[in-house]
Amino acid sequence: KRVEGPEERRLLELFSYGLMALGAGSALLLCFIPMPYGRYSTRRFGSLLPARVAWALQELPSLLVPIGLAACGGEAIAAPANRVLLGCFVLHYAHRALIFPFLIREGKPTPFVTFVLALLFCVFNGYLQGRSLSNYATYPPGWLKDPRFITGFIGWLLGMAINIHSDHILRNLRKPGETGYKIPRGGMFEYVSGANFFGEILEWFGFALACDTTESLAFALCTLFILGSRARQHHQWYLEKFEDYPKDRKIVIPFLY
Ligand code: NDP
Repeated sequence: KRVEGPEERRLLELFSYGLMALGAGSALLLCFIPMPYGRYSTRRFGSLLPARVAWALQELPSLLVPIGLAACGGEAIAAPANRVLLGCFVLHYAHRALIFPFLIREGKPTPFVTFVLALLFCVFNGYLQGRSLSNYATYPPGWLKDPRFITGFIGWLLGMAINIHSDHILRNLRKPGETGYKIPRGGMFEYVSGANFFGEILEWFGFALACDTTESLAFALCTLFILGSRARQHHQWYLEKFEDYPKDRKIVIPFLY
């Protein structure tokens, strides 16, 4: 029997609470075990995959699953607001899976466990956001002109721009062939150590405001927990490695944290 209608709606809500709990649990765990990737990469978590291959494969489900669900023709996807919102999600993952991996320079290889966890996350979240927006989220007429949609959309766009710009700054810290680390400067790095993470967090909170669904809020909170932990890990690492690291730079939220 296929789970659909109110039963699936309830399931999506439960999955959303699960996603929030997963984010909070991971943040707690990351206080004790550093996330094994990039500069903290280790063979203890399985054999290593080339960074480009890992990024492209692990992020692809968050692009393909929502497109597949929308193509199957859900009840809500004919509405312009649902199309625009699903388009925002898909656009982010088109960049993350098809462009970002091929821009990486000399990125550290990814442990197999980290790759599998990211892949499962992208399948799960691709289903959650894709199914919610193509089948269940309904909006009043004129939602695309509502201040909540407009503010959220601007937050999403600004966040994505900050994320891409900050990743560009990080990539250009290395000359061809270099694999070491330097102090990032310019853009939002003047305010926070995790400028790329700040951009992504802003992006998904903007998206959640524009979507006004439990599913999108769960994703934004999960992103905040996970990327907030990564930013704290990087910030502490920079303070230990570089004596001249800017002391007034915050972790991930400008002026606050
Ligand atoms: P990092 O900031 O850890 O690294 C990004 C790239 O820049 C890597 O290639 C890294 O090299 C390089 N780099 C980082 N810092 C320096 C430095 N100081 N000097 C030189 N090179 C540096 O980002 P992540 O890999 O964690 O994430 C990449 C993107 O994916 C981000 O935009 C992030 O927002 C997004 N993301 C989103 C998640 C979500 O839940 N929505 C989850 C995870 C990531 P190296 O690999 O050698 O360390």
